Amino acid sequence: MTENIMARILNFSAGPAALPLAVLERTQAEFIDYQGCGTSLIEQSHRGPVYSQVHQEAIDLITELAGVPDTHQVLFLQGGASQQFAMLPMNFLPEGGVGSQLVTGTWSKKAYAEGKNVAAACGASIELANPNGELPSAFVDTQLGGQVSSNAAYYSFASNETIHGVQFGHEGSPWPEVDAPVFCDMSSDFLWQPLDVSRFDFIYAGAQKNIGPSGVVVCIVRKSLLERGRSDLPTIFQYRTHAEKDSMFNTPPTFAIYMIRNVLEWVRDEGGLSAMKTRNLRKANRLYDVIDSSDFFNCPVERGCRSTMNVVFRLPTEALEAQFLEESAAQGMSGLKGHRSVGGLRASIYNAAPYEWADGLGQFMTDFAARNG
Ligand SMILES: *Cc1c(COP(=O)(O)O)cnc(C)c1O
Repeated sequence: MTENIMARILNFSAGPAALPLAVLERTQAEFIDYQGCGTSLIEQSHRGPVYSQVHQEAIDLITELAGVPDTHQVLFLQGGASQQFAMLPMNFLPEGGVGSQLVTGTWSKKAYAEGKNVAAACGASIELANPNGELPSAFVDTQLGGQVSSNAAYYSFASNETIHGVQFGHEGSPWPEVDAPVFCDMSSDFLWQPLDVSRFDFIYAGAQKNIGPSGVVVCIVRKSLLERGRSDLPTIFQYRTHAEKDSMFNTPPTFAIYMIRNVLEWVRDEGGLSAMKTRNLRKANRLYDVIDSSDFFNCPVERGCRSTMNVVFRLPTEALEAQFLEESAAQGMSGLKGHRSVGGLRASIYNAAPYEWADGLGQFMTDFAARNG
């Protein structure tokens, strides 16, 4: 076990991202012979009792942690959050209808582009909830939320913009209040804090940021919405198909779902979502405090809507940013390069990142600024 810890670096990757060491160790320990059944779990039929139990446990853990009410159903889908960008309008944008999309960063912009493709094919349209139409140049909370047509079929947004470091749903950056079914891409902050599922009609989250490996998307869907979805689509593209078959219409990604089960058991044993929130705020504040207490670092995001998961920051010059990356890598820190589309630096500190990682990075930042400021 000590060996494992020694070999592991401070991993700030945006996704696929760090998973709890305890979860990796458990997975390794039970990998080849899963609970005495003589095979690994991923060699088991997805319809057999061994996998079925894991599938149900994963659903139960999500239900318990997020407090999923009876009005909603948990689904495991594939194709990433990116596929939901297309499937959501396919299912819920009626001919001639209008869907509303809030754009606050790269991912919601992609959802907008994909929504427009689908809308063009069915004589519908997508409106921008933030009417200036483009990414806000400065991320200020007053720009978030926006307006929605009274006849909108839905309102769609991303709770956390992984690349731009903008987040909803916490102090200073409350959830948008809109009068339409609400669809939310929670890929990079699903289960970072307690969640009121009832205010959403469709939540979706690629697992590879906060709750597991890539290969599966967790959805929490309002059942009454499912009934209203289009039924003239190929079966596999209808959400109702997956709901009716309990996410077993086709072979589910059994390994990814098993990993989610392991991660969420860890979350529960660590104290659940309120404990996660406390830890996540402590980590994020550790880094934002360094940024705000120095003229050397700069965060482009207004305080109120800063992400607790992806802390983005700039240094005075790109040359210093390159030097920062090189020196931090030599100190055992990785994944700090900002997305190529925006540059700068980014520390992704999801549930699995221990406080010590944020603290280590914070110390390195202070030290680097003292040497180069
Ligand atoms: C990573 C990410 C996506 C894309 O996920 P894929 O699994 O690659 O489709 C979508 N939305 C957000 C907010 C993300 O962080």
